[in-house]
Amino acid sequence: MCGYERIDGGHAFEVEWDLPDECVCEKCRRPQRVHVEWGNRMQVVRDLDVWGQPGFFVYQPPFHRCGWCRHRQWLLPPFKRKHVTVTDRFEEQVLRMMIGATEEEVARRLGISAEMVRLIVNHRLQDARQINPQREITDIGLDEISLKKRHKLYATILTDLTDPDHPRILAVAPGRDQAAAENCLKRLSQRQRAGVQNHRTDMSPAYAAAGKALLPNSQQVIDRFHVAKKLGEVVDRLRKKDTCLQKEAVCAGEEAVSFADVGLSETTAATHGGGTSESGAAVRADSGVGSAVLFPLGGDRHF
Ligand SMILES: [Zn+2]
Repeated sequence: MCGYERIDGGHAFEVEWDLPDECVCEKCRRPQRVHVEWGNRMQVVRDLDVWGQPGFFVYQPPFHRCGWCRHRQWLLPPFKRKHVTVTDRFEEQVLRMMIGATEEEVARRLGISAEMVRLIVNHRLQDARQINPQREITDIGLDEISLKKRHKLYATILTDLTDPDHPRILAVAPGRDQAAAENCLKRLSQRQRAGVQNHRTDMSPAYAAAGKALLPNSQQVIDRFHVAKKLGEVVDRLRKKDTCLQKEAVCAGEEAVSFADVGLSETTAATHGGGTSESGAAVRADSGVGSAVLFPLGGDRHF
């Protein structure tokens, strides 16, 4: 991190990273020493919130030009994948927030569009990223997320809960049946599966069956969150039965899942909502934080 600028409704961090010495040309496949040039359009990438307001990474994008075929290729930063304008950890946050919430709720809370939320989930669904087989995993969670309320599209998320303060998403698979859960669990090595001691799930028999089949030494723990949700549903049903008179109060109670205000001003939120389904243009955050890209590179640093 080499610079900071407070922007309207958010925070912009200028970042740099170590560039590789060598690379392989994407076009002619020749390995070679990296020859760095810089793109002149500053890139703005959405990162986690800071003090309840959106944070952005800002950088001048480096690229390599092939010494043989002159092909240009971007030297990607270590904190994001290709063709997206959000960081990896922002993607993780979106997925975790999808547990127990809808796309619209997550989008509203983060000040991005519902399309962007869908795009991020889709990226992770197509992701064949390997789980590091050296990773020590003792506690995991299996959760379902609902992608589209009406069309009933579901996905299953496998989370590493070994360090409860830093849950990490390990895999995402389409569906919420036993096969979906097993698809996730099979991304762990056999040794890793044998090392799992607890798996937290909701009360779904499908996840219990997957755990039984693939986690020989693990105990199923019904997640407190899910139990609480189930109890809440029962209580709600009972309340609804005998509370015609208190109808308004009950409705107010049902709104209890409140989402923290991200602190975005109305105008900032509006500019973030302009995402389209095309991945490259999905987050037009850059247009929303125009002022962020104006601070001089290499000039006055704020640290
Ligand atoms: Zn080349």
